[in-house]
Amino acid sequence: MVRLFFKIFRVAVVVAALVALFVQYKYKDEYLAYKQHAVPYLMYHSIGVVPGWDKDVCIPEQLFAQHLQYFSEHGYQVITAAEARRKLLAGEDVAKNVVLTFDDGYNNNYTVAYPLLQKYGYHATFFVIGNSVGGPDYMTYEQLQEMHAHGMEIGSHTMSHDPLNIIATGYLPWEIYQPINLLRQHLGFYIEGIAYPNGAYNQAVLAEIHKYPFIKYALTGKAGCNTAKIVRETPLELRRMGIYDNGNGITGLERRLEKAYLVGFLESKGVPTDWLYKLTVPKI
Ligand SMILES: [Zn+2]
Repeated sequence: MVRLFFKIFRVAVVVAALVALFVQYKYKDEYLAYKQHAVPYLMYHSIGVVPGWDKDVCIPEQLFAQHLQYFSEHGYQVITAAEARRKLLAGEDVAKNVVLTFDDGYNNNYTVAYPLLQKYGYHATFFVIGNSVGGPDYMTYEQLQEMHAHGMEIGSHTMSHDPLNIIATGYLPWEIYQPINLLRQHLGFYIEGIAYPNGAYNQAVLAEIHKYPFIKYALTGKAGCNTAKIVRETPLELRRMGIYDNGNGITGLERRLEKAYLVGFLESKGVPTDWLYKLTVPKI
């Protein structure tokens, strides 16, 4: 069974590599042009490995520092989701712009990620859970205020972190509005972005969010990049790429970036991309 899995996995890697190479050569100019106006949004969680925590949500501090070094050396601008949205809508140059987002509001986002981001003059977006702010292992409102004062964006990751698609409609206002109202009390204004827990949402969720015009965008777990078209037409269904430590060091980040661009490009050409999302895309 395990051997069969690895066999299928190897085939999948080869298929993805072939797709990537095919796109690069057949559509090279178009692909490069697409990259000039598409912005990958990357999703981090814990920066630092915490014993007992799901390894999937932890990026070691050293590796995160390498990520920032990589962005710096390769000429990327690291910006918030709100800034990317503004630039895309204004038609500004977004070539080599990348958005860093952090979900759940872990304390190490403040103690580890925030100082490292500041070292490079980078800004990022932090989505916090209403019920967790100020709890053990989580950031406090005072820390969020400080980060915001230094250019970081704060967003909402709902009240309870339960996937919104399984929440009874009657509880949606509590899940969506309550954490934003709490942030307003502490920050002094309405935040403008939401990240769906597990990337999950449905029509009832979209209808609920439409009641609050100050909510400008929401992030799903759908792979790809965001473009002016996507931000304008489906602002509550923006794309985002999860970043995990798969043991490949900086190559892992390069692959995820390439995958975000590649999936976004294929999607822009009308190709169904759900199948590709499951495959590992090499750097090309
Ligand atoms: Zn989360």
